[in-house]
Amino acid sequence: MTKHFVIIGGGPAGNTAATYAARFGAKVTMIERDLIGGAAHLRDCVPSKAMIATGSALGTINDAQRMGLTDVSATLDFDALRQRIALIGERLERSTTSLLESQGVKLLHGTGRLVGPRQVVVETEEGSLEIDADVVLLATGSRPRIPEWAQIDGERILTTRDAYPPRTLPEHLVVIGSGVTGVEFVHMFKSFGSEVTLIVSRQQVLPLKDPEVAAALEADFLARGVTLLKGAKARSGVATADGVTIECTDGRVVTGSHALLAIGSIPNTDNLGLSDVGVELIDGYVKIDHNCQSSVPHVYAAGDISGKLPLSSVASLQGRKIAEHAMGLHSGPHRHIDYEKAASAIFTEPEIADVGLAEVDAFAMGRKIRVTKVPFSANAKALIEDDARGFVKIISDPATGVVLGGAIVGRHAAELISVIALAVSAGLRVADLHESLFVHPSMAEALTDAAE
Ligand SMILES: Cc1cc2nc3c(=O)[nH]c(=O)nc-3n(C[C@H](O)[C@H](O)[C@H](O)COP(=O)(O)OP(=O)(O)OC[C@H]3O[C@@H](n4cnc5c(N)ncnc54)[C@H](O)[C@@H]3O)c2cc1C
Repeated sequence: MTKHFVIIGGGPAGNTAATYAARFGAKVTMIERDLIGGAAHLRDCVPSKAMIATGSALGTINDAQRMGLTDVSATLDFDALRQRIALIGERLERSTTSLLESQGVKLLHGTGRLVGPRQVVVETEEGSLEIDADVVLLATGSRPRIPEWAQIDGERILTTRDAYPPRTLPEHLVVIGSGVTGVEFVHMFKSFGSEVTLIVSRQQVLPLKDPEVAAALEADFLARGVTLLKGAKARSGVATADGVTIECTDGRVVTGSHALLAIGSIPNTDNLGLSDVGVELIDGYVKIDHNCQSSVPHVYAAGDISGKLPLSSVASLQGRKIAEHAMGLHSGPHRHIDYEKAASAIFTEPEIADVGLAEVDAFAMGRKIRVTKVPFSANAKALIEDDARGFVKIISDPATGVVLGGAIVGRHAAELISVIALAVSAGLRVADLHESLFVHPSMAEALTDAAE
């Protein structure tokens, strides 16, 4: 009998699961209340990277003299940027919708919730609709976390979702939160020409990252004139007629033209009827097992609500694995996702990317590792491209030579890390990397050098 797969949420987790489940022969209905493609994806991940790319182009043009060019300059056109972001979003939404439709996925525009273990209700503009499901996938994503003290007005005090781009270019942006999202916004607005102050709650930006990596980013921020307010936690934020005043718990006060909150996200698990049908939550996230099954086995959860790594790539892979598992394909333990092997990147300048075991974690565990590090300053392509900042670090097992992890700071780090990610997931040895013949001149040559 054909299985009916009902998916709530059309982000990377939902739409990947839908495509695969349909290919594997399921009848698939996907419910989305906003954009097909995902809120976090189309409202955060993609627009933020599009704005960073514009800032980077601006920087390249305005620094063109260093490449031997004269009389080249550019200024930012905020309206054109807004249109560019809208256009990218529309194109992605259209291509995702066509892919789903081509696989026969039924798309319902509305808000879904469980009303029984196998019953989903959808509130649409035309009224409500009850659907019976054999398998349910919860893939409703997350939204920015807003502390009680923050009075978000979308004008002066912004969440990340008010910033693509804001109505006007902030003269002086105060960014609250120095995790991945916060530092990307610092870089983005600094490259647009804003003055930027970053409130850093600890003594290091990117508190969860390798200190050497974080130090490289801090050095770049300081060189570009970003003010770092370390060991400071915001406790109140007030919008005034012409700016904002942020007060920290230690009494320090920062003023600016705008403030942006980047202090994490919370899962969209409220109003889904989960407790009524026995789906267990941990701190608001759906509790899942290795197969992404919740405490109700035919109800799966993926993406940001699953409490695993909040990355688009992870959400998509979970979606595919769920389709395979629910359709009875590839269900052995070897198919479980190893979240430790997920590569991630921070789109600052220089870019930062890492995968697998971090040096700092190995030391904390008392695990013996071998660390090899090569700077880009000796790499021909980095010099050709006029950006030789950063380094490649490879972490391997001293006994076997197997690559356990790595970190890259530098131009194209987000692309280059794929090589180390492949080595980590395929269990390759440093010797395998060292013996590989990469293109010359290329930044990737630093990887073979670091694998010596
Ligand atoms: C600023 C920012 C930048 C980021 N950059 C990156 C990056 O560079 N790389 C990366 O890998 N990740 C990035 N991420 C994270 C990434 O966007 C998320 O991890 C990813 O989108 C999660 O996918 P998802 O499918 O779980 O949820 P989403 O993409 O959020 O999709 C969930 C969907 O469910 C819908 N929905 C919610 N409730 C209901 C309901 N009851 N009924 C119907 N529909 C519902 C929502 O409208 C939404 O469309 C970034 C996040 C932020 C905040």
